[in-house]
Amino acid sequence: MQIEKVYEPQRFEPHWAQWWIDSGIFRAVRGANRVFSLVIPPPNVTGSLHIGHMLEHTEIDVTIRWHRMLGDNTLWLPGTDHAGIATQMVVVRQLAEEGINYRDLGREEFEKRVWQWKAKSGDTIKHQMVQLGASCDWSRERFTLDPGLSRAVREVFVRLYEKGLVYRGEYMVNWCPSCHTAISDLEVTHTDVQGHMWHIRYPVNGLEGRTVTVATTRPETMLGDTAVAIHPKDERYRDLHGRTVQLPLMDREIPVVLDELADPEFGTGVVKVTPAHDVNDFEAGRRHGLPKIQVIDENGKMTAAGGPYASLDRFEARRRVVADLESQGLLAKIEDYPLSLGKCARCGTPVEPLISTQWFVKTKPLAEKAIEAVESGRIVFIPANWTKTYYEWMYNIRDWCISRQLWWGHRIPAWHCQECREIVVAREMPATCPRCGSSRLVQDPDVLDTWFSSGLWPFSTLGWPEQTEDLGTYYPTSLLITGFDILFFWVARMAMLGIEFMGDVPFRQVYIHGLVRDAERQKMSKTRGNVIDPLVVTVKYGTDAVRMALLQGAAPGTDIVLTEERMESSRAFANKIWNAARFLFLNMERSGVEPWVPESLERFLPEPDTDTFEVPIEDRWIFSRLNACAEQVNRAIENYRYHDAAQGLWAFFWHEFCDWYIELKKQRFQENSGLNPGWRNTLAAFETALRLLHPAMPFLTEELWQRLATDRAIRPISVAVALYPQYRQEVTDYEAEREIGILQEIVTMARTLRTEGKLDPKQQLEGALYSRSSALNVAQRHAAAIQKLANVKLEFKAEAAPKSASMRSTAQFDLVLHVPQAQEEAQRKRQEKEKEQLGKNIASLHRQLEDQAFLAKAPAKVIDSMRQKLADYESQLGKLDAQ
Ligand SMILES: [Zn+2]
Ligand SMILES: [Zn+2]
Repeated sequence: MQIEKVYEPQRFEPHWAQWWIDSGIFRAVRGANRVFSLVIPPPNVTGSLHIGHMLEHTEIDVTIRWHRMLGDNTLWLPGTDHAGIATQMVVVRQLAEEGINYRDLGREEFEKRVWQWKAKSGDTIKHQMVQLGASCDWSRERFTLDPGLSRAVREVFVRLYEKGLVYRGEYMVNWCPSCHTAISDLEVTHTDVQGHMWHIRYPVNGLEGRTVTVATTRPETMLGDTAVAIHPKDERYRDLHGRTVQLPLMDREIPVVLDELADPEFGTGVVKVTPAHDVNDFEAGRRHGLPKIQVIDENGKMTAAGGPYASLDRFEARRRVVADLESQGLLAKIEDYPLSLGKCARCGTPVEPLISTQWFVKTKPLAEKAIEAVESGRIVFIPANWTKTYYEWMYNIRDWCISRQLWWGHRIPAWHCQECREIVVAREMPATCPRCGSSRLVQDPDVLDTWFSSGLWPFSTLGWPEQTEDLGTYYPTSLLITGFDILFFWVARMAMLGIEFMGDVPFRQVYIHGLVRDAERQKMSKTRGNVIDPLVVTVKYGTDAVRMALLQGAAPGTDIVLTEERMESSRAFANKIWNAARFLFLNMERSGVEPWVPESLERFLPEPDTDTFEVPIEDRWIFSRLNACAEQVNRAIENYRYHDAAQGLWAFFWHEFCDWYIELKKQRFQENSGLNPGWRNTLAAFETALRLLHPAMPFLTEELWQRLATDRAIRPISVAVALYPQYRQEVTDYEAEREIGILQEIVTMARTLRTEGKLDPKQQLEGALYSRSSALNVAQRHAAAIQKLANVKLEFKAEAAPKSASMRSTAQFDLVLHVPQAQEEAQRKRQEKEKEQLGKNIASLHRQLEDQAFLAKAPAKVIDSMRQKLADYESQLGKLDAQ
């Protein structure tokens, strides 16, 4: 029962974090109970947890702990993502620091180095999650490159290929010349920059002196032009139908094609066509069977097809091309032109549209089913507005380029026959080519987009393609909690692949949380320097306090503002509970009461006071309030209204339990001259309140709850597996709520009077309470408590209050409080203020009325009214002085 004077969370948080895991209570055990399952959005192995993770994990943890305490078969499956390009870049950079070019190392050696790095840093996230109290089942921890998950990846790839949903195709991809890989549209960030529009004259063959002018923002690509296009209905260029033009600098004859790519309203109405370096031109090239001449290579340098510009960097080539056009008189003009420049989200290099052969997933048929799942309500988004965003993306979905030119990731299970060029897609490496029998097979060098494996996460982690018991029990998962930034990358892909391979949705609900922002509502970023590091603040304020601070702002559909003040006040909240526990324990010890706690409040019968043989009114009241709090918090967590849950718990613990209940209990204790004033009731209420608070503040509640635990034989080993308190109608005690409500009203009125009169809290006041209702009897019963709490001695008068302005009254209970000292003092202070203001007004009017220049100019009417006002003020002041 000993409890330290000061709340120091660092003293016990690490202990419970480890104890929970050692005791195995987070392990999901299959059984008959209702299932609640959730898979973690796997953090990248590259990093450590940031405050956004902590918000996400706190929300997940509250929901998970709540379900566990409801008695559900609860699984939170943890794990990490290999994060293809992000991880490869980290190790590439490390090697570069050692002076090693990773390409020189070779693929196998490089992969080894990444695994070594992963072994060293991969546990950082797990360690941090443990410290923050995340109640995951670590026995089921997964990594996207685990053998089981890799097998699932191969299985999915092969099955999609066999269904014709995976294909190889020539495609215009976004190429990063620095990362050396194709990147998806979603990995390209667009920035507005001031560029130029170059207008170039192309001479028309067979029409002496006739030129057409094309406009381009990328003149170096003209080296790869294979046509110019005009709109079929553009009358200005009718004479060009069937003709060719001469491509400047390259001296190549290229055709004029009729295509709607050319917009008569835009520019000159003539456009150059470069099928190898522009997405729209690529499509136009297809329509007209145009050759594709690649003039820029994978390194961003000009190819041999670039003629005199070969091997120049693309930007240098641009300068030379422009200079050469100018000297030949072919540059009509240069305009400033704002454009949206696509850059690699990873390294910032401008992306280059290139044609390459890649692997694709045909997404339309998969998307149709994933749309249907949301339309039919089998997947529900919360808040609901994300449904619209999901549809917009799914209806306009393009095929998904899944190959990446990287070394770190799942290698594509396809082998190229070196003899006959056959491509064999298989689960394991084939011994020979099925077409020609050759054994010279080489595996495709590319790896899969990292989202391919995370798209399988809800079922690959549960053992698929094996029909494991876990898969049968925990799929579909109940809920996904994630950020909006990966709605498309991840959530949509899981929906498509889960439905395709499991025949059912991967999750029933998707809760999209907000961003954590600073006090000025700014996003947190390293460049702004406003980043809150969860590991720093949890040491400073305690993990529970940071969790509580996050939860308080976590309303659905809004961002969360996290400030030092909020964490500080959450720490004060924890401290308040700590002190309440300390008070209870000390007094029980003095009274010789065992820290006995009932198995559950549901079976607890409040015990009577030893003096009165009645259950004390304050105990009846606190049970009733606790019951109301249980209703609010259960409903709030169920609906992801974490802020409501936090506020309900805060209001109950701080205001009702600490500010009122403990104070009333102290009073009872004194009245009973230190005998037992129903301590067991207090303990029962406190224990129930700890259980209610546990999902939000797991460490503090475990620490205190364990100190209450005496009869271990009948109690669960941890508050984390104790029952979550539920609302029960029969516990609501209207009589007790009314009675304590009356007491609260009177004390609050008296305190307000004292504050208004600016009276010393220690000064004992005297007054009268008037009422003609039964509230007076109630108040009279609590005269001692009122005297103690408000330091006012009252007379109780069952009559209407005398007519007087200086009264406080409350409509709810028909009570009028008259405290002459406080009210006179308040009145005197009000009058002093009034006198001061009148004095100022009078002085100001005097000044004006003595100003000769003003009097000379101002209309008589104005002066009259000012004199009138002055007289009024002086008479008012005189009256006040007389009083
Ligand atoms: Zn890049
Ligand atoms: Zn072959």
